Order: sequence, then C-alpha cells, then structure tokens
Amino acid sequence: MTATPRPSSALHTLTAPEARDLLVRREISSTELTRACLERIQQVDPQLHAFVTVTPELALEQAALADRALADANGDAGKTPELTGIPVGLKDLFCTEGVQTTSGSKILLGFEPPYDATVVARLRATGAVFVGKLNMDEFAMGSSTENSGLSELLHGTTRNPWNLEHVPGGSSGGSAAAVAAGECLLALGTDTGGSIRQPAALCGVVGLKPTYGRVSRFGVVAFASSLDQVGPFSVGVEGTAMILRAIAGQDPLDSTTAPERVPDYRAQLAGGIRGLRVGVPKEYFVEGTEPDVTARVRDAIAKLEELGAEVGECSLPHTDYGLATYYIIAPAEVSSNLARYNGTRYGLSATDVPDVFGAMDEARRRGFGDEVKRRIMLGTYALSSGYYDAFYLKAQKVRTLIKQDFDQAFERFDVLVAPTSPTTAFKLGEKVADPMAMYLSDVCTIPVNVAGLPGISLPCGFDAKGLPVGVQLIGKAFDEATLLRAAFTYEQATTFHTERPSL
Ligand code: GLN
Repeated sequence: MTATPRPSSALHTLTAPEARDLLVRREISSTELTRACLERIQQVDPQLHAFVTVTPELALEQAALADRALADANGDAGKTPELTGIPVGLKDLFCTEGVQTTSGSKILLGFEPPYDATVVARLRATGAVFVGKLNMDEFAMGSSTENSGLSELLHGTTRNPWNLEHVPGGSSGGSAAAVAAGECLLALGTDTGGSIRQPAALCGVVGLKPTYGRVSRFGVVAFASSLDQVGPFSVGVEGTAMILRAIAGQDPLDSTTAPERVPDYRAQLAGGIRGLRVGVPKEYFVEGTEPDVTARVRDAIAKLEELGAEVGECSLPHTDYGLATYYIIAPAEVSSNLARYNGTRYGLSATDVPDVFGAMDEARRRGFGDEVKRRIMLGTYALSSGYYDAFYLKAQKVRTLIKQDFDQAFERFDVLVAPTSPTTAFKLGEKVADPMAMYLSDVCTIPVNVAGLPGISLPCGFDAKGLPVGVQLIGKAFDEATLLRAAFTYEQATTFHTERPSL
C-alpha cells in the first residue's frame, strides 16, 4: 500500500491509492497528474479510440481546485475526500452537465444534459477530476464496443490496449481500455449483463458490478432498468474500494436504491480469507470455454484455497436459462426505455420530413444502429398481446428460479468463483455478423444481473497469445465488502495486476 515515486513522465501509471498518497504528501500535484493523463490520451488515443469526448479545460480547472484543497489540508489525509485530484473517465451514458452525452448513439449526438447523474455529482463533490467521456456499445447493447454508433466519427472502433487487433470487450469497452492504458486512473461503467466485468477481464483490469440498488441510476441513460447497475474500473482492488465508497448509497432521486449503510470498503480490505467458504458453480465451466481460461481460473481457485479459503463445488441448476431469460427481459425493457428517442426532445431530428410521425420514424431509422433496432423489435414482440404470458411472464418466473439457485448456494458459501468470460479478447470483426456468438460472451455474467447480485472481475493471468484472463467472484446481496476483501487478498498474493500493456 505504500507509494513508489516515479518520474513525472510515468505519472499516468500510478494506481489510485498510490496517487492519493503522493497527492496528500504533496509530492505531486493534481495538475501534474491530470496533465500526464491528458498527454497520455493525446499519445495513445489516436490508436485506441477509447474517448468520445476529452475535456481538458474542465479537467485542469478541477485539478486546480483539488490542488488548492490539498494545499489547505497541509498533509492531513482526513481533510480531503479520497478521490480529490484523481483523474476519472466516464462512460458516455452518464449525464454530465453541459458536456455531450451520447450513450454511443447517433440519435443523441449533440445532447448536452442540463444536469449531472447522481454518481457524477458525487464524484464532482469529492474533488475528482473528469478527463472525458468514454466510448461504448450503442445504449450499452453489446460485448465488444463494436456496436458504438460513433466509430466513424471517432475514425475507428475502440481497441484492446494489449493487442490493437482485438476488441476491448463491451459494452463499457472505452472505460476498460482507458484505465488499462493509463489514460485515466479510474473509470465508471455500467453492467446490465456483464458490461463492466467482461471488458475488465478482456483488458486486464478490475471491474466491479455492485448489488442492484447499491448505486444510483439517476441520470444514467437507461438500457434495462431492472438490471442496469453502475460500477468502477481500476488497476487494483484498492482503487475499486475507494471509488465504490464515493458513489454508493441511497439516493432520493432513485427509488430503487437501498437504505443500506455504505462501509469504508478500503479500511476493510485487510484481514485475509482464512475460513471463507468459496463455492465453485460447476455449470460455469461451460462447453466452449477456452482451455487457457479454464486453466487460469482453476489456478486462481487453487490460490484462494492456499490462502485459507474452504473451497467446495456447488450447483446453480438454472444457469442454462440465464441468457434466454435475459434476452426476453432486457429487450422488453429496451422497447419501453428507448421509446423516448424520437427526435423531438434531444439529439438528432429529421427536420427535413414534413409530417410529425414520419419525422419521428425517420429520426429512429437514422439514429439507431442494427443491434438497437433488433432489441426494440425483440422486446416489442415479447410484450405484445398474446405473447406476453408465453415470453415475458415466463421469463420473470425463470428469473425467480435463477435467484433461488443463488440463495441456496449462499446458504453454504460466502463467495462464488467462476470465469468472467469464456474467452479472452477476440479479434475485431470476429463476431459482428453473429449476434448469438456475441451474446454467448456473457454466459457467466448475465445470471448475476438477473439475480441482482454483486460480482467482480480480477486479472488472473494471460493466455498463450498474451491476452489477459479474468476470474469472477460473486457475492451475497450488499456484501461488496467481503467480495473486495477476497479480491484484495488474492491480488496481494499474485502479480497479474502489476502487468501493464506496452502501448
Ligand atoms: N452484452 C450484453 C448485452 O448486449 C450485456 C450488455 C451490458 O451489460 N450492458 O446486452
């Protein structure tokens, strides 16, 4: 946990806790750190395409304020919030007052929200520095960021910093790539079916999806409201703990947030995992999982055992129905949530079409990409009269069964462990023509959203091609503290998190 001083040219390689120590001791300033990240963006983003919008003026203004607060605190860590002066990136679906928010869609180009999302407001209040908005699959639908509607505009799709021919994962691919490449120290994403954990795994960083209701969704462009959850990306678990504490907790503006107490996660990382009961769900080592992934995850399980965990096998028998359930419920919610984009209130409008309904149709035709249109059609169909009981209602019932599987497993275990994704980062273009293959990227993450539970992905090694592998830990509802402690204990006993891509 102690900071190692580095040359200023390498400030962007600091982890959030290292930067925090140096900022408090005033060995570096937030302005220097922010400049280092902005320079890094200038240097690597023309190849990486992680950012939709970079906000250097805003960032340097916030950094100057942070430096003033840190100077006033005069070395007393208790006098400034932990994220003061730390550069953070935001997935482009968090409303940021006065800064364009596209949700990766042409239909929202030019939309400047009049207010901040609650998570953005909370980060702003802690003194964090916003370096920009990050690319994503359109409306967060996808697993590779190739569904972004902005790729043409950005002159390329977002790349994986470990190998530019490969995808960063998705839908929060920009967030994962930016953190892995040192363009910002921390980032926020959202996870509806795996969109934080899967890109974190593919880019070799830590990604946490908190419990449904742990973090406010107010001001977050909605995809599937009963599944969406906001969470962080970080190099190392400690940074994850720092930013989770800053964004978590009940919000009067989101009635689905829970009145649960938010612990000081960072203070609870130590303590080890002796006696922790770790379950291995046998259904999660699915056919089609790459042998390297299985091997690295098995190594991670052995390491947890070596560290004192009591490991045993368990079963989540309805796992097979996870994808089918998700691909009814999520599109059904999409068909409702995306009805508002018709060119009248925000973003793109078809002003050349004279009649009002024609103009709405045309705005949607021009503004939405293929995957978004596919989901709207699937959802509209599943909810239509005569099909509602057969599809939507049945999916809701299976959702309960999936949740009960987890309830039973958590009677015997404190944490479950599984692969995050069955594959490492695939090649750009490899799965775009085959939606089913793309959907399968999330077999191991989707059930966790369906059940509303917290899950974290951690680096656990590399495949033969040198691409990162992620291991997933799944926790009980609102028990992120145990999840983070287990993750931290594993991380301290391994070195994978210290490896950075040579970009
Ligand atoms: N890949 C999944 C989908 O396309 C999950 C996306 C997400 O979590 N936002 O729906």
